[in-house]
Amino acid sequence: MPVNISAYQTIQASLADKQVSLIAVSKTKPNEDLMELYALGQRAFGENYVQELVDKAAALPKDIEWHFIGHLQSNKVKYIAPFVHLIHGVDSEKLLVEINKQAAKQGRIIDCLLQVHIATEETKFGFDGPSLHELLLSGRMANYTNIRCRGLMGMASFSEDQSLVQKEFATLHAYFIKAQQAFPDGSFDTLSMGMSGDYELAIQEGSNMVRIGSLLFGARNYPAPNNK
Ligand SMILES: *Cc1c(COP(=O)(O)O)cnc(C)c1O
Repeated sequence: MPVNISAYQTIQASLADKQVSLIAVSKTKPNEDLMELYALGQRAFGENYVQELVDKAAALPKDIEWHFIGHLQSNKVKYIAPFVHLIHGVDSEKLLVEINKQAAKQGRIIDCLLQVHIATEETKFGFDGPSLHELLLSGRMANYTNIRCRGLMGMASFSEDQSLVQKEFATLHAYFIKAQQAFPDGSFDTLSMGMSGDYELAIQEGSNMVRIGSLLFGARNYPAPNNK
């Protein structure tokens, strides 16, 4: 399926107006598809699988910002630590410990978002509201000197019920505003919420980073190569 260039241009223009950044979610898509958007100026790409991300990063231009948006297992952090731009799905302290360790080994400070569970589905990963605020107010984040915690990420329920989705985004935005109090230096500035089906609602509720895949690249090619 061809890349939808006109959708890209329309979305990119409307997001730029609103100061919302666009992560082009390219999981399962071939390098040629990413390069079509790269040629139009897109630099931020999002991937869900470590091996696929590592392979693409090796093959594609070095000025791409790679966003890891999937569920990250601790034992795989080391593969992306040398180059990852932002890890969206940090959903446990165990993972924070490992990212911090691998970032230190690389002499890097890695930007991360804490993932918050806002959907009704059981299967979506993330902190719940109370454990998020406990972590941030405890001061324990200061232990992770090689992590810069930039904000929050969440996924709404996969539902036709717009009022439910809207409520979930509003909840995440409220957590974000409250959590900012723990970062008086202003570094906690990113709220990653919204995908192809719900990004407009997410922006209306305060998102400033959206992760869009199928609207740009079409339906996913499963199974992706090398994702075992
Ligand atoms: C796949 C994925 C997306 C993109 O989904 P689309 O509905 O194709 O836009 C966004 N965020 C996460 C976390 C994803 O896994």
